[in-house]
Amino acid sequence: MINIPKGTKDVLPQDSYKWQYVESVAREVATLFNLKEIRTPTFEHTELFNRGVGETTDVVTKEMYTFKDKGDRSITLKPEGTAGVGRSYIENGLGNGALPAKMYYLIPAFRYERPQAGRLREFHQFGVEVYGASSAQTDAETILIADTLLKKLGLQIKLYINSIGCPTCRAAYNQALKDYFHPHLGALCGDCRTRFEKNPLRLLDCKEEGCKAVNKDAPKILDYLCEDCAAHFEEVKSCLALAGVDYEIDPRIVRGLDYYTRTVFEFVSTSIGAQGTVCGGGRYDGLIEQLGGKPTPAVGFAAGIERLLMVMEQSGVVIPEPIKPTVYLAGMDGDCRKKAFELATILRNHGVIAEVDLMERSLKAQFKYADKLGAKYVAVIGGNELEEGRANVKSMETGESVPVAFGEIVEYFLN
Ligand code: ATP
Ligand code: MG
Repeated sequence: MINIPKGTKDVLPQDSYKWQYVESVAREVATLFNLKEIRTPTFEHTELFNRGVGETTDVVTKEMYTFKDKGDRSITLKPEGTAGVGRSYIENGLGNGALPAKMYYLIPAFRYERPQAGRLREFHQFGVEVYGASSAQTDAETILIADTLLKKLGLQIKLYINSIGCPTCRAAYNQALKDYFHPHLGALCGDCRTRFEKNPLRLLDCKEEGCKAVNKDAPKILDYLCEDCAAHFEEVKSCLALAGVDYEIDPRIVRGLDYYTRTVFEFVSTSIGAQGTVCGGGRYDGLIEQLGGKPTPAVGFAAGIERLLMVMEQSGVVIPEPIKPTVYLAGMDGDCRKKAFELATILRNHGVIAEVDLMERSLKAQFKYADKLGAKYVAVIGGNELEEGRANVKSMETGESVPVAFGEIVEYFLN
């Protein structure tokens, strides 16, 4: 037997409605905020992620599914959604259209990670990208999109925000970080010693216990923000307050990808501990230029669908179950079964969800199956019924039966 690859999951027929529910709420919220869906390829040139996500990030250094295709090109399955959208935005000249460009995506993403609950190698994201607007209201609106989604899904969540400034404030801050971490280098993990040289901000994102202990007292970026970045952050906070969204400032949030500037945020479930971060995002004004486009302000976020579902389950959110068949047409044998088949077709053509036996079961077994399906009615066609031109329609709820002429069956179920 061939097994499913490690870190991947099947969504089984009995569970797919939960996914469809989350996806439909996501699309509904996207529509509410006038976002348009963008679909980009599942794989891209590896170079896109090296440049877009960042050479010093865990995603690029350790987690990418990269391979050579038969034409000897280096290809990578997308580990996140933003880089592909950024590429497409530039390549298709979307910046020449109406701005801001407000987009969303629903995608599979691939990261070679150690699989655990809520951490997979293939996972799914709902993400939002808003390009072309630098105002703090844009940051706030983007946060509100996520907030609206999470609340509509019934989640208990907390919003943490921070600002990681722009390259100007970052220069002074990186120096302060280097000064702080230098005497502690021996206590840091190997990765962090590399990060120290290449991108000290990344040190704050390390999940190793030893590094976390050192990180605790590191200088805070908020103390190093330039005047513009500080004013921008104040404005974001005031817009959030205006919208009635609670938040907490967490100076340790730096986000795992290199493209962020200024606002960064995470939504964390208050009902579970591990992998409780359901959504992360922020502003990345340098990304489009980094990918070869004109300087373009950008904000966005991504929420992990598996994590949303996990948290919803753990906190007892009830997801509406899919619609059950209206009627199960049970034919006794031979011609009766044919009549059942014919009536099912007519009913479906009129938009009634009708089921019919495909297993050549006995009437009794058909009833049992109809019950299992949760059909509201069973329309029985036996020899007598066939002769009299009507079905015996039994309500599975009340147990009552009424005869319904074949010619009136559509009308019966449409009412
Ligand atoms: P984490 O800190 O949990 O590794 P991250 O910072 O790497 O998250 P992002 O790149 O910001 O995550 O991705 C956005 C969201 O995608 C996360 O908040 C999470 O909900 C989800 N996500 C990220 N990696 C995985 C994964 N391996 N499996 C399932 N969901 C994931
Ligand atoms: Mg990660």
